[in-house]
Amino acid sequence: MHLTLHGKTALVTGSTSGIGLAIAKGLAAAGCNTVITGFGDPAEINSLVVDLARQHDVQVAYFPADVAQPAQIRALVANAMERFGGVNILVNNAGIQHVANLDVFPEDQWDRMLAVNLSAAFHTAKAVLPLMKSRGWGRIVNISSVHGLVASVGKAAYVTTKHGLIGLTKVTALENARFGITANAICPGWVRTPLLERQVQERARQSGRSLQEEEVQLLGEKQAVASFTTPEQIADLTVFLCSESASTLTGAALSVDGGWIAQ
Ligand code: NAD
Repeated sequence: MHLTLHGKTALVTGSTSGIGLAIAKGLAAAGCNTVITGFGDPAEINSLVVDLARQHDVQVAYFPADVAQPAQIRALVANAMERFGGVNILVNNAGIQHVANLDVFPEDQWDRMLAVNLSAAFHTAKAVLPLMKSRGWGRIVNISSVHGLVASVGKAAYVTTKHGLIGLTKVTALENARFGITANAICPGWVRTPLLERQVQERARQSGRSLQEEEVQLLGEKQAVASFTTPEQIADLTVFLCSESASTLTGAALSVDGGWIAQ
């Protein structure tokens, strides 16, 4: 396998936490200069940038952006290009969740989830593709979800945006297939991150179960393998998709879901 990515530059959205943070670490470990972005404590982000660069002997930069704002996305990509001379690998990972039935789903949450979970991936891809095409190489990985393939109650905006992200991935793959660019979606089931922990806490509050009991309940409902996928496992697949070994793997929606959608 050819997993080394030395000399490439990766931009990972939502890389201050959870899956995105693991992906940024995985790509830096594979040799990429890496752009971190997302919300968080400035001191913690600064030490992450310094540690990652030192540990893997790559360059790491943090540029803040609210990916719900297209102008901030354009500035983020411009900053990354100015600092590193281009973006070779784009990982659209930033995502948010809100759980409520459709008839009472807050309209501001619907609008924000469309912007963060779906439109942001359009704006980042649009900004990086011209240079990728002119150079004849690029990798775009969109972090969708099992909810890009199947639905659950209470998740109208999440399911809609994650299905949409797979559609965007397929078009990106087809339009750029002759330019050395691949585009794929990863569809995780349950991964223990702050986003998941907030859902477990809310469910435990409603059910009266302990957090541990609620986790067992959550896994038992959907995920045949009764354990969580780790953020590092998603990162490993992302690194593989960015490698030369995956140069003809494009337009796919790859489930990493412990058997969720096999049922
Ligand atoms: P997380 O809450 O731990 O991290 C989300 C990241 O996105 C953070 O870095 C946060 O700062 C950033 N972010 C959120 N809103 C932003 C905005 N407006 N602008 C810029 N950055 C923003 O979540 P996670 O669980 O690591 O989720 C990462 C991705 O994986 C999401 O797209 C999520 O839908 C997807 N996913 C997660 C799971 C799971 O079980 N955790 C399962 C399937 C898919």
